[in-house]
Amino acid sequence: MAIAEHQALMEKLVSLAKRRGFFFQSSEIYGGLQGFWDFGPLGVTLRNNIKRTWWRTMVELRDDVVGIDTAIIMNPKAWVASGHVQNFTDPLVECKKCHQRFRADHVKGTHHADDGGEFTEPRQFNLMFKTFVGPAEDTSAQVYLRPETAQGMFVDFANVLNSTRLRPPFGIGQIGKAFRNEITPGNSIFRLREFELMELEYFVPPKEEMKWLDYWKEERLKWHLGLGIRPEKLRLRPHGKEELAHYASGAFDVEYEFPFGWSELEGIAARGEYDLAAHQQASGRDLTFFDDLKRERYIPHVVEPAVGVDRILLTVLIDAYHEEEVRGEQRVVLRLHPSMAPVQVAVLPLSRKEPLMTAARKIEHELRPFFRTEYDDTQSIGKRYRRQDEIGTPYGITVDFETEAEQSVTLRSRDDMTQVRVPIAGLRQALQERLG
Ligand code: ATP
Repeated sequence: MAIAEHQALMEKLVSLAKRRGFFFQSSEIYGGLQGFWDFGPLGVTLRNNIKRTWWRTMVELRDDVVGIDTAIIMNPKAWVASGHVQNFTDPLVECKKCHQRFRADHVKGTHHADDGGEFTEPRQFNLMFKTFVGPAEDTSAQVYLRPETAQGMFVDFANVLNSTRLRPPFGIGQIGKAFRNEITPGNSIFRLREFELMELEYFVPPKEEMKWLDYWKEERLKWHLGLGIRPEKLRLRPHGKEELAHYASGAFDVEYEFPFGWSELEGIAARGEYDLAAHQQASGRDLTFFDDLKRERYIPHVVEPAVGVDRILLTVLIDAYHEEEVRGEQRVVLRLHPSMAPVQVAVLPLSRKEPLMTAARKIEHELRPFFRTEYDDTQSIGKRYRRQDEIGTPYGITVDFETEAEQSVTLRSRDDMTQVRVPIAGLRQALQERLG
């Protein structure tokens, strides 16, 4: 695909997202705010589906992981100890002509490609948002909005260890908002200033760190494939030595081939004892583990898979977006995995007539406890199918003039557009078989 086509695809997707209620700019009526987005009715359902799948796989279905929920604002000493106050920076350059600012590692050369203006020397810009606790706006009351959820899990390590019967290897998982004052947010919701993270801190005996890094990179790739993302668009990329943080002994990115190129979807890093050791030293609290079987005391090493909900949402939508020609007309269809689709079953009366509408409403109410359903009787049936295709609804049920006499409906498949007749009494089972 050429660059123009890539851009066109992103524009079409962003326009669909707004038109159908997946996501739109935050406070749009005031001109928006760069790097902040809102999620509409379909978007919030898709987000919840993503988070539920992560939580189910990473926490509930494992006997070695527990979940927690820590505060967005922490004691600022935590961010000094973690190194964020000193090092959570990106190199910033400014064009001397138009005064636009860029991340130095995101631009090529020494001059702005648009207007030829020279870039300033890079300076380090800290990405943490600052605010104040209490009524006095002085530096002693200054705190940060967390740029990751991980530190909450490190700081709570001893509390979790002491309140559970877990022993390494074990993990703590968390889903929550994070904030980064990115120099150049963009590509719609790819790079945000407010986003939501899903992070696992997996604590292991020091000698086992590399084994678990290997394990988690494979597990995480499998998880993304389970969302229905095309395998040829996903890859694992090991970090080169120069990319690794000084304390890290290895890292991988799960990358996706976005319209703007291969980019990070998720990061998986072996962080050694860095975080717990730093907090132990700064707080004076014991953050070691005593292995009573081996009579050994050690600071557990950490393997961390970290991924953004918003970035998965964008990936899932891009990956599902298809345009095709059907009987001379263009059809836009989101081939979403049934577990992700915000609406799984649409129930549509063929026309706005009785008894069709009442029958369709009844069917929809009966299916609602088991599937994500929607009743729709607006517009022509063709337009309603088109809308359901565009929002990725895998199945449509049409109630027609034969329904009452035959006690049956048509079941339309989004992907191949075939229609089969199904008795109303067998609908739930027919859908369960198809949706999995
Ligand atoms: P970059 O170098 O691209 O700024 P990073 O390597 O610092 O990012 P991590 O700290 O590894 O990013 O973040 C882990 C995951 O969190 C990313 O893979 C991504 O899914 C998500 N993420 C990070 N920053 C953002 C952001 N600004 N907006 C949306 N999601 C983000």
